[in-house]
Amino acid sequence: MPKTSKYIFITGGVLSSLGKGIASASIGLLLKQRGFAVTILKFDPYINVDPGTMNPFQHGEVYVTDDGAETDLDLGHYERYLDESMSRKNTATAGQVYYDVITRERRGEYLGKTVQVIPHITDEIKARMQAFHGVYDVVIIEIGGTVGDIESLPFLEASRQLGLELGKNNVLNVHLTYVPFIRSAGELKTKPSQHSVKTLMEHGIMPDILLCRAEQKIDKDIRQKIALFCNVEERSVIEALDAESIYEVPMMFARRGLDDIVCEKLGLKRSQIDLETWARFVHRIKSPKYHITIGLVGKYVRYKDSYKSITEAFIHAGAVNNTKVVVRWIDSEAITQETAAEQLADLHGILVAPGFGSRGVEGKINAIQYVRENGIPFFGICLGMQCAVIEFARNVAGIAEANSSEFKKGKFNVIDLMHDQQGVVDKGGTMRLGAYPCSLEAGSKAFAAYKYEHISERHRHRYEFNNDFRELLESHGLKCSGVSPDGHLVEIIELAKHPWFVGVQFHPELKSRAVTGHPLFTAFVKASLKRALKE
Ligand code: GLN
Repeated sequence: MPKTSKYIFITGGVLSSLGKGIASASIGLLLKQRGFAVTILKFDPYINVDPGTMNPFQHGEVYVTDDGAETDLDLGHYERYLDESMSRKNTATAGQVYYDVITRERRGEYLGKTVQVIPHITDEIKARMQAFHGVYDVVIIEIGGTVGDIESLPFLEASRQLGLELGKNNVLNVHLTYVPFIRSAGELKTKPSQHSVKTLMEHGIMPDILLCRAEQKIDKDIRQKIALFCNVEERSVIEALDAESIYEVPMMFARRGLDDIVCEKLGLKRSQIDLETWARFVHRIKSPKYHITIGLVGKYVRYKDSYKSITEAFIHAGAVNNTKVVVRWIDSEAITQETAAEQLADLHGILVAPGFGSRGVEGKINAIQYVRENGIPFFGICLGMQCAVIEFARNVAGIAEANSSEFKKGKFNVIDLMHDQQGVVDKGGTMRLGAYPCSLEAGSKAFAAYKYEHISERHRHRYEFNNDFRELLESHGLKCSGVSPDGHLVEIIELAKHPWFVGVQFHPELKSRAVTGHPLFTAFVKASLKRALKE
């Protein structure tokens, strides 16, 4: 018997960056811990087909799913909180929706009709919103952007129509708003929330629950006022204070009875909630025994959302090791051979980040040379691994001109374009994307971290380790400890004679989950902690 799915729509008002993604993931976790099958979908109103072609400064990290979709970083939050893998069905952009409708129009599927936003675009959105109908007990749908934006209109309209079709008992509207504290008046102000709800209502959507982001406690009288003006029950006006850790948010919501209200309003049977493991995880984040500092070397360090999954993976791996990982952000462009010692000597480990293009690459290579020669734990991800191979080829194997053909085409491209990437013209969605299997060498550091031989990790790159140089580099001590099952693609390199020096062609950070963490991050933090404890 298929389940009847209940839907929760999450919209945001007043301003962006209020944390709709965390709110959606937190509600999802609370319902999951009550025993419901939950999934979360994200709808982004922009015209790009996906964020894959956007600059990290614009969009933050591009999150890649197992099935190779390049998606919004909120999908990362969903996976980390729910401990479940998302897929391309969990996300859509206005660009994708229009692309599909226009493709169908060209095929003649709407022959005779004028193709319009309502009903054609909204029908396509509704179909995508119901991709998991009957599969999950609860489908949470986060609508990107801020209420009042022109772009979000078709999405709000689709959610309104769906609410009508599915019936009141099956749909809940949660609106995230902001209640600013005005210092000169010494007061929390409710007007922006009133306006935001008014805009939502103009679109025919009445919020059932308001999550009010605020820096100061929202007292009962303010909650009453918001309830009255926004037409929401007082108990459903929920304070959402800034949290020390984003992982505390589910517990803050639970303390305010949010999950109870959600279950009651959706007619979900009230099962007992189990937050014990989560609470232990949060406790370990907040009261760690040890502290270490890890340098994150990258070129997008001014915009930290570009490395979201990496910083979250450090929080998880830190919790596993009872350690707080303090990240020192280091601009790769600023590292020279002369300054490397001064910039890196006091670090307990360094991670060289993924990236595209030549800017900052020589700085990354300088950093790697320093940590390789000085026994500082090193973790290279994607471009970080490629830089480690270049550095090793230049400074250990004596190939002075070693480079990646992404930066300089020549005779010594130890990193080179894969065969199936040659001649690729379309930039969108054409990299090696998504999950690929990898076999680990017994006795390696990688194997010691994972503890099993066959793994699967997610990719997002065009260039690869060039096998023409494999024998030479291996003869100088570079170990290819993880390769594709057919042995052709080098996925992990490491150095045996170093406390911990591992580079991976894939993106392990995308599979780090709250509570459990990721084996490689856990091992890297452990190695860095060992260095810290020796001081
Ligand atoms: N620019 C490199 C490539 O395309 C690395 C990509 C990355 O770090 N994600 O292969």
